[in-house]
Amino acid sequence: MNIDRKHVAVIGAGVTGLTAADTLAGWGARVSLVEKTPFLGGHAIQLNCKATDACVKCGACVAEDKLLSATRHPHVDVYTGTQIETISGQRPYQITYRIHSPLVNADQCDGCGICFETCPVSGAISQGHAPHGGPYVAIRRDLCRYFQDAACTECQDACPQGAIGLSSQAQAGTMQADAILVTTGFTPYDPSDKSYGYGQFLNVITSLDAERLLREHTVMKRPSDGRPAGRIAFIQCVGSRDARLGHPWCSKICCGSSLRMARLIQSRQEDAQITCFYIDVQTFGKDFQPVYRSIRDNIAMVRAIPGDILRTATDELEVIYFDPQSHASKESLFDIVVLSVGLLPAEDNGPLARILGWAPHESGFLPHHGSERHPAPEGIFTAGAATGPMTIAESVSSAEESVYDMVRFLTAS
Ligand SMILES: Cc1cc2nc3c(=O)[nH]c(=O)nc-3n(C[C@H](O)[C@H](O)[C@H](O)COP(=O)(O)OP(=O)(O)OC[C@H]3O[C@@H](n4cnc5c(N)ncnc54)[C@H](O)[C@@H]3O)c2cc1C
Repeated sequence: MNIDRKHVAVIGAGVTGLTAADTLAGWGARVSLVEKTPFLGGHAIQLNCKATDACVKCGACVAEDKLLSATRHPHVDVYTGTQIETISGQRPYQITYRIHSPLVNADQCDGCGICFETCPVSGAISQGHAPHGGPYVAIRRDLCRYFQDAACTECQDACPQGAIGLSSQAQAGTMQADAILVTTGFTPYDPSDKSYGYGQFLNVITSLDAERLLREHTVMKRPSDGRPAGRIAFIQCVGSRDARLGHPWCSKICCGSSLRMARLIQSRQEDAQITCFYIDVQTFGKDFQPVYRSIRDNIAMVRAIPGDILRTATDELEVIYFDPQSHASKESLFDIVVLSVGLLPAEDNGPLARILGWAPHESGFLPHHGSERHPAPEGIFTAGAATGPMTIAESVSSAEESVYDMVRFLTAS
């Protein structure tokens, strides 16, 4: 099969998009890999390796390998900070986009970190991977205050290298594609509306926040005062398996991810007392069973989902739940509570599906391109967590399967 002269656009540069771009380029296609944020790697690149004495097959290292391989391939052109605006209805597709030039000049930035210290919004400035695969500091337009009311320029004013230019403009561009692969991934559930105090109590954090804390400090430090957290609670299924929220599905990755994280924390902090509140433990995959057996002996597993979290006068967190053993309401105190947030459809699925003239699945995830109920427009393919919650290994397989379908389609057309 020969697709040497074909041009393919891959929308979304998480582990799925990176895998697909690299594999398509390996088949000889010219690939435009379009990523809306300044960073490559999506969610998977933000995860910690959970190995303690041996590999626990969490998959976190896969994203970095895929990133390096895709960005080094001469047939892959990477567009970061790029938003698709229109896609013409006929093949080859004409795609128009807007590309935002980076707000931090990578040549001038020396990585001193002063911008991180001065920024008043947590997560608005972050470190990630640039189009060439190397480390990179970038500002997220969706979180930065400058892009809400132009009132805050603290990082720009403080940067000793003058590397930050908040007023840089977007430019329009066009590209052509014989086929398009949509790999827009998922959105983590935002638990601000739950009665757990997220956004109010600094020591109530999400699982993604916990990944970031563990990268920054090795041990789990409390955001409120920087002290190592001795008593840590994980609450599972926050925003998943919740019909009232309209998210009845299991997000699949959370049990494995939280319990591996608990084990990593205990390996670094022997005195850490960890409690996991859960509905039931989903041990998908043959690799997780032995890991789970070794973990559960050292963790208090409580089969209950807490109703409320309160903050005490001494800045502890009081978790209130219905104890299944005593059949009574119970309270336990913790230093930090990690909410294992569910995987929801990517925010852009709806708008993108409309641009493509396609209907998303009723859940909001994109249908698989082979779906009979939601047939895709010709030449449009999907892969990865854009189609539903999945692990990194499953995302890689899904990318490879979709690439195979694309190659067959492009060879035949
Ligand atoms: C807290 C947490 C812990 C996890 N732990 C594990 C684990 O231990 N093991 C495991 O196997 N999995 C784990 N996962 C799941 C893992 O993150 C996913 O399997 C993986 O990220 C899916 O990759 P993806 O590329 O499909 O989606 P994503 O990682 O979501 O990447 C999608 C990319 O598309 C981009 N994008 C979205 N819309 C557009 C658009 N319109 N235009 C251009 N770009 C766009 C996004 O910015 C993003 O870069 C975890 C997830 C979470 C939240």
